[in-house]
Amino acid sequence: MQRFKVTQISKPFFHSTEVGKPAPPQKLSKSYASVFKKWVVRGLKLTFYSTLAGTLYVSYHLYRESNPPKQIPQSSAFANGLKKKELVILGTGWGAISLLKKLDTSLYNVTVVSPRSFFLFTPLLPSTPVGTIEMKSIVEPVRSIARRTPGEVHYIEAEALDIDPKAKTVLVQSVSESEFFVSNVNYDYLVVSVGAKTTTFNIPGVYGNALFLKEIEDAQNIRMKLMKTIEQASSFPRNDPERKRLLTFVVVGGGPTGVEFAAELQDYVDQDLSKWMPDLSKEMSVILIEALPNILNMFDKTLIKYAEDLFARDRIDLQVNTAVKSVEPTYIHTLQGGQKASDIPYGMLVWATGNEPIELSKVLMGKVPEQTNKRGLLINDKLELLGAEESVYAIGDCTAHTGFFPTAQVAHQEGEYLARTLDKKLEIEQLEWDMLNTADETKVSRLQSEIDSKKSKLDKFNYKHMGALAYIGSETAIADLHMGDSSYQLKGMFAFLFWKSAYLAMCLSIRNRILIAMDWTKVYFLGRDSSV
Ligand code: FAD
Ligand code: NAD
Repeated sequence: MQRFKVTQISKPFFHSTEVGKPAPPQKLSKSYASVFKKWVVRGLKLTFYSTLAGTLYVSYHLYRESNPPKQIPQSSAFANGLKKKELVILGTGWGAISLLKKLDTSLYNVTVVSPRSFFLFTPLLPSTPVGTIEMKSIVEPVRSIARRTPGEVHYIEAEALDIDPKAKTVLVQSVSESEFFVSNVNYDYLVVSVGAKTTTFNIPGVYGNALFLKEIEDAQNIRMKLMKTIEQASSFPRNDPERKRLLTFVVVGGGPTGVEFAAELQDYVDQDLSKWMPDLSKEMSVILIEALPNILNMFDKTLIKYAEDLFARDRIDLQVNTAVKSVEPTYIHTLQGGQKASDIPYGMLVWATGNEPIELSKVLMGKVPEQTNKRGLLINDKLELLGAEESVYAIGDCTAHTGFFPTAQVAHQEGEYLARTLDKKLEIEQLEWDMLNTADETKVSRLQSEIDSKKSKLDKFNYKHMGALAYIGSETAIADLHMGDSSYQLKGMFAFLFWKSAYLAMCLSIRNRILIAMDWTKVYFLGRDSSV
């Protein structure tokens, strides 16, 4: 019989051998073992170095965050004699803080006026009432944000009551009980970024009976009411109608706020309460009421359908085409399809039906004739307030947007745009000042062309919509992403991971990122802490 030789292809897998004679098993397993060992060592090395790099990166940024360099103090003028302008920013929300973070604060004497001394990361606010995220993890003091900017920033804990665009003053009133004052703050430039409040459409009984979800105190109120109501219900015997009413939780408004909160609430019932109060948890019901035929109307239709199907599976009672007409202390009165009336008893009611202007915006609408829109402040394409274009800007939810929803994404982009504009404006003023102070003809014409070129670069605000994300419960989310002219829809578990990473990336500080990541990990292993 002829004998063949197999050519050796590569060590150590193939060995020169004769047909019918297998390679010695001992040698083969030895070579596998050595390759395996090599890869394990490589894996361990990679893990070690990436952990080390990650730790160094986080430590360095944490150090930088908690030890910011010295700031340039406020002053009346620059070294060349040009007067430093007073820039007053109203608000500490998405618009104001995005502006503050991006602006070179050494170029202006910056004063921030807001009744809220911290920034609130609203996208994760619906996770806080049930304890998925701790409230302190999504707030950041305005003083620490301001301290990390190049120039000194003054903060006044007060509410703006009125604006006089002619005299360029803002009337402010302190919110601190210990130090009450009402005074005028002068400005050269004013940025109004005061947000909006939850609208009730003047539906009777909403104030006094319903809870809102806009600020951190709202989340605290919901948490307290939720826990109290559950305890109260447990004192009634099973099948008692009062127990059934108390265990009915109604959310009004099928926009993203209502949907995300209803989803978090149902998660809490299914994943936590079911362990500690199994019988009672089975009796709890979450009802989501929406006046339109669908929830989440800013999302793609396939995603809306996915969310509605998931709600049906997760036992969230979705009642669409149902508008709340009045609210009583123990039940709501609704109209279905505009006709059939029905009363829904509730133990806790959360109201999330969109935005309306706050008092200060209404005051401005009343006194500036160009402000003719009742939904929000009117601005031009450079974000200047109509009627006070030369000195007042308005950004974020307090403005009447056309074409896009009032979101953090819009307010953030507007804030960053305004920071760039204010930087450029000062460069122009510096050049104009230099021009005033020189008699050299060639220098004057060079400065003039530089000024013209800079002025031509003061572009208008151009919003880039990146898409929308929403958590819909049971560790699933939906994402409607936009890139250029294309759009992509993600749903389910993968979208949930994307949602988590997107929000971690959006956080303003490493500190918040660490706290939020720790909260998620804690919930995974230990469950939610919903103690009040
Ligand atoms: P805000 O962030 O509301 O800030 C307003 C600021 O003005 C506050 O600091 C307030 O204290 C201050 N202020 C109020 N009155 C006065 C006054 N008289 N004088 C001075 N200061 C005053 N958007 C997204 O893009 N993605 C999300 O996932 C998302 N999730 C959300 C979840 C919830 C629960 C809510 C309520 C909103 C969410 N939004 C989200 C919308 C987003 O939060 C808003 O669009 C964004 O906060 C608007 O920014 P703003 O700066 O205009 O107002
Ligand atoms: P919204 O305006 O988006 O939705 C409110 C919903 O309430 C509407 O669908 C409306 O039809 C319904 N409604 C109004 N009156 C009603 C009534 N009497 N009875 C029953 N339903 C009624 O409001 P929102 O969810 O509070 O959001 C406010 C803004 O914040 C929006 O621009 C939203 O895009 C943004 N936001 C975004 C996210 C996110 O991107 N994940 C999360 C929260 C909020």
